[in-house]
Amino acid sequence: MEILVINAGSSSLKYQLMDPETGYVFAKGLCERIGIDGRLTHKVPQRDLKVEREIPMPTHSEAIAAVLDVLQDAEVGVVRSVDEIDAVGHRVVHGGVKFAASCVIDEACKQAIRDCIPLGPLHNPANLMGIEACEKIMPNKPQVAVFDTAFHMTMPPKAYRYAIPEEYYEKDHLRRYGFHGTSHRYIAKRVEALTGRKDLKVINCHLGNGSSLCAIQNGKSVDTSMGLAPLCGVPMGTRVGDVDTTVAQFIADNYGKTIDEVLTILNKKSGVFALSGGVSSDFRDLEAGANEGNEKCRLALEKFAYEVKKYIGSYAAALGGLDVLVFTAGIGENDAATRASICEGMEWLGIKLDPEKNKLRGKERVISAADSKVQVWVIPTDEELMIAQDTAELAKR
Ligand code: ADP
Repeated sequence: MEILVINAGSSSLKYQLMDPETGYVFAKGLCERIGIDGRLTHKVPQRDLKVEREIPMPTHSEAIAAVLDVLQDAEVGVVRSVDEIDAVGHRVVHGGVKFAASCVIDEACKQAIRDCIPLGPLHNPANLMGIEACEKIMPNKPQVAVFDTAFHMTMPPKAYRYAIPEEYYEKDHLRRYGFHGTSHRYIAKRVEALTGRKDLKVINCHLGNGSSLCAIQNGKSVDTSMGLAPLCGVPMGTRVGDVDTTVAQFIADNYGKTIDEVLTILNKKSGVFALSGGVSSDFRDLEAGANEGNEKCRLALEKFAYEVKKYIGSYAAALGGLDVLVFTAGIGENDAATRASICEGMEWLGIKLDPEKNKLRGKERVISAADSKVQVWVIPTDEELMIAQDTAELAKR
C-alpha cells in the first residue's frame, strides 16, 4: 500500500508518501509560502535526491496539485499515476471531545473538525483546507483524519478538568486536551514492542520546537502537559509554557494590548527565545551562545531543563512510580547536553544516565546506566508512520 500523509499548516503543507507496513518513505517534501507565492521542496530519500521549485500556490489546492505533479514527475517522481496512491491521511490538530480515534473523512467528520475551530483556531482551519484541497483534486480517494488530541482522551477527569466554573466545561468544553498525541502514541507502542511489556509506567518527553510530556500507564495517556491549546506546559521555542494568567492581564492593561495580541506574544515571542534575550528559539544556537558565555542563553537552557525535570517528578508521582523515561523529537533525539541536565540529580527517582551511551543522536537506544532502576530511552518519533498506519487500516474497511 502507498499512503500519502498530509500535514497542512496555514501557509505550508508537508507531505510524505510511504508504505504503512514497512515505514518505507518513497518521497517527502514541503510546500511553503502558500497564499504568498509558492515553493516546493521535494526529496526522494533512497536516491538522495532533493529538488526545489517555485510554483504559484494561491491556495492549498495548487499546493496539493503541485505535490501530485512532482510525485508523478518523469525525473524525480515515484509513482506512474495517482491511482497508485491508496489513501490520504491528514494530521488534524484539534479533535475536541468528539474524537478519541482516527476517522474516515466524510461530511459529518468535516463538520466536527469545523466545530472544533473555536478550540483550535490556529490549526484546524488550515487542516480543513488541506482536506478540502485533496477532496477536490482526488475526489474518489479515501481520506482519513488523525487527531493530535485523540490519544489523550483516556485521561481521567482529575487530569483533564480545569478548576473553573462548570458552565465553561459543560457548555464550551474548556478542559485539558493535550497535543502531540500521535507522537506519544507512537512512543507508547514502541516502548511496548521494545520491552515486550504493556503494564509499564512511562513518561515520554516530546521535546521539539513545541514540547509536551505525557504520562502513560498500560499504554494509555493518563496526563499530559499541554492543555486546551498547545501553549502551556514546559517553556518551548517561542511559547511561554505554564504562566500565571494574571501576566496576560498585566501586559494587556499596561501596554494597551488586546487579548489576541497578548496571546501572540505568549505564543510567538516567549519561551527560550525570550529568555535568551531574543538570540534564538533553536537549542543549537542557545548552546553555542551559552558556550561563548552568554548568560541569557545559559538561563534559557537551565529553565527548560528545570521545568522538564519538574514535570517528570510530578508525573512519576501521578503514576505512582516510573519504569521507562523516553526522549523524542528534535531536542529529545539530538541534544545530549539537555538530556543530561534534565536527568541530573534524578538518581533518587531511579534515573541514572550512562554519559557514554547518552552521546548518541537520532538513534533508538537505551541511554541509562546498567544499574539505573528506570530505563531511559531515546526513541526517534514517527508521527507520519502512525498516520499512514491508521489511514491504511481505516481505508481497508
Ligand atoms: P517541531 O516541533 O517543529 O516538529 P522538531 O521536533 O523538529 O520541531 O524540533 C526542532 C528543534 O530541535 C530545533 O528548534 C532545535 O531546538 C532542536 N534540535 C534539532 N537538532 C538539534 C541538535 N543537533 N542539537 C540540539 N537541538 C537540536
